[in-house]
Amino acid sequence: MEVKKILVVEDNELNMKLLLHLLMVGKYMVSKAGSAEEGLELARQDQPDLILMDVQLPGMSGLDATRIIKSDPSMKEIPVIALTSFAMQGDEQKAREVGCDGYITKPISTRTFLQELNTCIEQYRMSSC
Ligand code: MN
Repeated sequence: MEVKKILVVEDNELNMKLLLHLLMVGKYMVSKAGSAEEGLELARQDQPDLILMDVQLPGMSGLDATRIIKSDPSMKEIPVIALTSFAMQGDEQKAREVGCDGYITKPISTRTFLQELNTCIEQYRMSSC
C-alpha cells in the first residue's frame, strides 16, 4: 500500500492550514473536509489512501465517523489516523476501540508531524500483512 492521497477531516481552520502545508511538503495529494459528514462523503467518492481524522468535530464526532468507515465494506480498508487532543485523556484508547489504525496527538508539531505520520503508516503496514 502506497499512501499518496490523504483526506484530512478537521474543523479548525488553522490546524487545517497547517496540515495541508505539511502534507504538501511531504508531497502528498490532499483533499479536505470540515465535518465528519463531509468527510464520509469524500471518503466514499474519492477512496483516499489514508484519512487523518480529527476526533472533536461539530455534529458527528470523528470517532463515530470512523466507526461508520470501519463497518462499511467500501471504506473499511482505508487506514484512519486519529488526531487526538493531548488535553483529552483517553482519546487514544477510544480511537483504537472504534477501529482507528493509529493516532497523532495535537497540537501538531511542524517539526515532527511527517515523521509521526510515516511511523503510523509503517505500523499499519506491519499489522495488516
Ligand atoms: Mn476539532
